[in-house]
Amino acid sequence: LRDQVTQKLVEPKFSRSVWFTDRDENIALSIRHKGDRVFREKSPYQTVEIFDTYAYGKMLTVDNVVMCTEKDENAYHEMIVHVPMLLNPDIRRVLVIGGGDGGSVREILRHPQVEAVTMVEIDEVVVRASRQYLPSLSHALDDPKLNLIIGDGIRFMQAAASEAYDLIVIDSSDPVGPSEGLFSPSFYEQAHRCLKPGGVMTAQSESPRFNHAAFVDLVQCLRSIFGRDYVHCYLAFIPTYPTGMWSFTYSSKGGADPIRGFDRKRAAAFAAQENLQYYNADIHPAAFCLPTFVKNMLNG
Ligand code: SAM
Repeated sequence: LRDQVTQKLVEPKFSRSVWFTDRDENIALSIRHKGDRVFREKSPYQTVEIFDTYAYGKMLTVDNVVMCTEKDENAYHEMIVHVPMLLNPDIRRVLVIGGGDGGSVREILRHPQVEAVTMVEIDEVVVRASRQYLPSLSHALDDPKLNLIIGDGIRFMQAAASEAYDLIVIDSSDPVGPSEGLFSPSFYEQAHRCLKPGGVMTAQSESPRFNHAAFVDLVQCLRSIFGRDYVHCYLAFIPTYPTGMWSFTYSSKGGADPIRGFDRKRAAAFAAQENLQYYNADIHPAAFCLPTFVKNMLNG
């Protein structure tokens, strides 16, 4: 018996398991998957892979960084989209930069008043892989209201008409490689120009704990362009991103305050009707309550 117990303790429980590790200099997140990757292709921009994981379903990675998983993507996509959408029932024209998995477009198109969505994703491989292996995210990419452009979001924004959009969603990867310019002041100056008066931009703004320099720089940059009172940070819990604590920024071109302008009844009815899994009328204002260390980062 003692031998059996010793053997159990020594042998790892999952001896044939395979682990994907999203590794930084100092921390790492490992997720066990079912063997060989389901998809792998090196595009001119990055290596795009899909794994079938035990805990989170299919998982899209770019250059070894988790982009989204079937199981927890709803937190990210619902929060980046419904926070601005439920503040303004008149959002009709929307631009998404990045977002090749289709999750943001899916959430935007839940709102029937939306007339047109343009999505600019630099890498057709992300779109192709998502269409094939992540249909629960990508199904809205075939919607007739969507104009899908494969191209560089930075160039697109430079050439786009002024005051063309009610909402711009920056659904980018981390600020390295093709995404780097999506974190620059000149890009956000262009985004501000392309918003209608009163329009809103939401952006994923990294983890305050893990990537605090990128987070703080982005918020400072947005404050200098949109005005301090028009930039608001909010948080969501996303287990497969480093630290699990993820931030978004809500920046408006002189428009509604994200809490005072909030119609709780409408948000509650929408969340119930659409069977949303993360966003609800309680989370909306609560997400803007920041822990002290995050407030200190932004006010320091
Ligand atoms: N939820 C994700 C996260 O925070 O990790 C973002 C996912 S989404 C797949 C990010 C997308 O931005 C990638 O598909 C990437 O190809 C795209 N992207 C990066 N740089 C871009 C650029 N300059 N223009 C347009 N899309 C870009």
